[in-house]
Amino acid sequence: TVKRKPGIQQARMQLPVCAEEQTIMEAINNNAVVIICGETGSGKTTQVPQFLYEAGYSHPDSDNPGLIGITQPRRVAAVSMSKRVAMELGLTEHEVSYQIRYDATVSPKTRVKFMTDGVLLRELAQDFLLTKYSAIVIDEAHERSLNTDILIGVVSRVLRLRAELSKEDQEKVKVNDDDNGDTFWLIGWEVPLRVIIMSATLRVSDFTLNKTLFDKPPPVLKVDARQYPVSVHFNKRTPDIDHVTEAFKKIRKIHTRLPAGGILVFLTGQNEISVLCKKLRKKFPPLSPKASARQRAVEKEKEALEEKKEVVTAKNAEVEAEDLELGEGEIDKNVDLEDFDFDEDTEDEEGFTDEEEEQEPDAPLHVLPLYSLLPTAAQLRVFDDPPPGTRLCVVATNVAETSLTIPGVKYVVDCGKVKERRYDSTTGVQSFEIGWTSKASADQRAGRAGRTGPGHCYRLFSSAVFDNEFEQFSTPEINRMPIEGVVLSMKSMNIDTVTNFPFPTPPEREHMAKAERHFRFDLCPPSTSPLCHITQLLAYLGAIDSDTKRVTELGRTMAMFPLSPRFSKMLLIGQQHDCLPYVIAIVSALSVGDPFIKDYHLDDARPGDSDDGGSDNEDVARREVKEIRREEVAEKERRKLARRMYYKVQTKHAGLDPTSDILKLLNVVGAYEFAGATEKFCEDNFLRPKAMDEIHKLRGQLTNLITTNLPGVDVLVDPRMCPPTPIQLRALRQILAAGFIDSVALRADLASAGAAGKGRKFKSTRGVPYRVMWSDEDAYIHPGSVLYHDSPPEMVVYQEVFKASRVWLKGE
Ligand code: ADP
Ligand code: MG
Repeated sequence: TVKRKPGIQQARMQLPVCAEEQTIMEAINNNAVVIICGETGSGKTTQVPQFLYEAGYSHPDSDNPGLIGITQPRRVAAVSMSKRVAMELGLTEHEVSYQIRYDATVSPKTRVKFMTDGVLLRELAQDFLLTKYSAIVIDEAHERSLNTDILIGVVSRVLRLRAELSKEDQEKVKVNDDDNGDTFWLIGWEVPLRVIIMSATLRVSDFTLNKTLFDKPPPVLKVDARQYPVSVHFNKRTPDIDHVTEAFKKIRKIHTRLPAGGILVFLTGQNEISVLCKKLRKKFPPLSPKASARQRAVEKEKEALEEKKEVVTAKNAEVEAEDLELGEGEIDKNVDLEDFDFDEDTEDEEGFTDEEEEQEPDAPLHVLPLYSLLPTAAQLRVFDDPPPGTRLCVVATNVAETSLTIPGVKYVVDCGKVKERRYDSTTGVQSFEIGWTSKASADQRAGRAGRTGPGHCYRLFSSAVFDNEFEQFSTPEINRMPIEGVVLSMKSMNIDTVTNFPFPTPPEREHMAKAERHFRFDLCPPSTSPLCHITQLLAYLGAIDSDTKRVTELGRTMAMFPLSPRFSKMLLIGQQHDCLPYVIAIVSALSVGDPFIKDYHLDDARPGDSDDGGSDNEDVARREVKEIRREEVAEKERRKLARRMYYKVQTKHAGLDPTSDILKLLNVVGAYEFAGATEKFCEDNFLRPKAMDEIHKLRGQLTNLITTNLPGVDVLVDPRMCPPTPIQLRALRQILAAGFIDSVALRADLASAGAAGKGRKFKSTRGVPYRVMWSDEDAYIHPGSVLYHDSPPEMVVYQEVFKASRVWLKGE
């Protein structure tokens, strides 16, 4: 039995989920899988584990002696929720523990364990039957992170397997608890595993109606919301300055003009949050003027908690999107907030007229940051009462959207943005970007203002933007990444049965098709599924062992990058050979695609024109014939000139290595940065400015990603780089060959046995056939390749094959 403190008991009884304790436990006892939906703050995360605990789960001498495991998509939530539940139950952190990538409080005494879903997935690799657990709670399932989706899929298999085994073998089986070699638990397979899926929204049909997941639709229990009305105020205009500045203005207004009540601000990442907190702290004192010297000292000390840096060392790091700093473009650090004349700002007064009640202009504001990499002790401060006489202001990432409920919030300021993985299925480019969140998410954020009483939500964007540019719901992460990345991630979790894996939402067909084009699928018999081909490629790249089909150490590291596996591989070897900045530039350029205006586009584009020619046809028609003639001649001349210039530019950029299209790209990227990344440079060099800009941005992102994830690697973030040395050039060519290991073509005369034509001399590559690895058709070097005008090499590494009247090879 549990003895809770009276205050705690009283607070619990207020939570809607506690009114449903009996219904919930009955459903759990009678069903292998139960889904619980309830508004954020209804008590799911803190209370459901306690229901299980009180019902005997995790008690060594009960029928369900295994642990109670609760997974969270975010580390912050795993840590703070375990502390809260330990406190409510009156247990130690060794009994109610957490485990995240950096650290853990688990012990042999642990009964309730909070962890990130990544941690449980790794445990599954060692112990596929989850024998340590009697109940698994998968929390925040509505977020649809890749890990959560995979976890739900795996767990559905675990349930099936445990059920089958219990039929086959009723004997008790000895199980070794690997956290502590000398405890042995006796767990019979007839002891079922209970799975509870929890969601803050009612959108759970992907779980309930998916027959490959659960044969019998699991029951869905709805917990009533206890929500006060929230008035939503849109900005009249969506500001063109950055949202951090806009948030500052709004907070300032709320704080100086509206009645008491906490403010919760949603931003996208650590960088923005730090900037805003600093500005707010500069503007408003943290404590009331009456505060004693001691109180001030305590406050200083607590603020210092924020400074401790989390050190990323783990090889098997879990990257949360919000951890990544995107570098340039994310926020204009030069914006000096003091420069804005706030008092002249009368543009948007909505929500400020009704309850005006001037505060003293320099009332204290208790500003707290909240993001995933913030030291735990600093994170937990958001749950403490703010010092007397101050107003709480929490500046948070998405973690405060549904994972954590911050008490006392009356005002929400929402920038409307989120940092997340994006994937463009037409270009295959994957990146982390800041973009608009979904309508559903924005409504969740607004809801945070109505927990303790009626509240207000200030949206830093217009209702038109909300209506027209926000998606209804966020796309599950699995559909925001390339399928080969999903496969490698799963392989790195030792999930081998990828082909028929029960995904809650299977990867989209178009992504499959894209992957199919990306890889040389004829590596496998034609009838096999795309997933088999991907497996084959991963084996070629050394990411998985070709015999066991298990992930290798290299593959595990490759899985950390949000990139196509062949690019991850190139980056990793690049690091070993002191070529990392170059490989990053190459990978960025290859991901974005050829930035050159295609040679055959020159006919309708003058140098520098991007692809928007041909709208002045009508004018031409109206001109006199004579003039047309003159125009035609001039036009012809111009084209000739443009063509000549175009080839000159191509030759110039091929200077690093005249036999490589990809090193030509590297040269272009380097030259562009040296020239100051200008439009003029693009114009003079027949480049698409947008593509060059994207390459530039992607380089920044990749550089950041690698510095945060590969221990001991320090890449210069400076976009300018010196040209590679001859040794580096050689290494680069080898790296490219390793990345495109499945894309090698051999000159046909050398490929056929007996090789009649061996030693033949060729004047040019024109009409010289090549053999690719996967087809009997001949292929030819593309006229756009630097190789086209030279004598044909014996072997070519290619990047793309175009199927036309002829099969073209384009690449190295
Ligand atoms: P849900 O999971 O349904 O969103 P929670 O169980 O997280 O709900 O939260 C229930 C209540 O417990 C909320 O009102 C929240 O404010 C409170 N709570 C949670 N963690 C803490 C904490 N560390 N300190 C104080 N209150 C907390
Ligand atoms: Mg919760």
